[in-house]
Amino acid sequence: MSTSVTPAEITAAIRNVPDFPKPGIQFKDITPLLADARLFAGAIDLLTQNFAPGSVDAVVGIDARGFIFAAAAALKLNAGFVPVRKKGKLPYATHEEDFALEYGHATVAMHIDALKPGARVLLIDDLLATGGTAAAAVSLVKKLGAEILEINFLIELKFLDGRAKLKDYPIRSLVVY
Ligand code: AMP
Repeated sequence: MSTSVTPAEITAAIRNVPDFPKPGIQFKDITPLLADARLFAGAIDLLTQNFAPGSVDAVVGIDARGFIFAAAAALKLNAGFVPVRKKGKLPYATHEEDFALEYGHATVAMHIDALKPGARVLLIDDLLATGGTAAAAVSLVKKLGAEILEINFLIELKFLDGRAKLKDYPIRSLVVY
């Protein structure tokens, strides 16, 4: 479905919050966008525009803001929704993937039976920064033998070159800083 919402309107609805959660970080707050029904729906239309309903088996969303967009995209595409969560949150057996943060490391997890081998996956998160989180999610999807069709972000911080960690896959972002 086409949308009348432009990337410029989406950009205007993203609030920049300096020094959150710590000094030096320019936090991109998506809550004004989510609160606007037309812009939220338009963002989902843009994130899913390359796919017809039924052409994707699962939309994988990344904890936590990625869930919001991935779940809505899954409904629109008649696909299942699969969460990649922070370690220790999923109740059943999981695969885990460690990745580096600016200081230290983090771990994400996915249920071992979350995707069937060969499943066609659209991976969505709210924001691409260094790419560590998305790359870890990609590893989990690949571990289950599923196929990544596209990786989509609402926002990309281009100067951090997160794309370099995801270069084997088509990547789209709606708003680039
Ligand atoms: P990275 O692994 O460095 O690509 O970080 C991406 C993850 O961290 C995403 O799940 C984002 O939600 C979050 N994130 C990183 N930087 C920001 C930022 N400036 N504003 C909002 N979220 C961010």
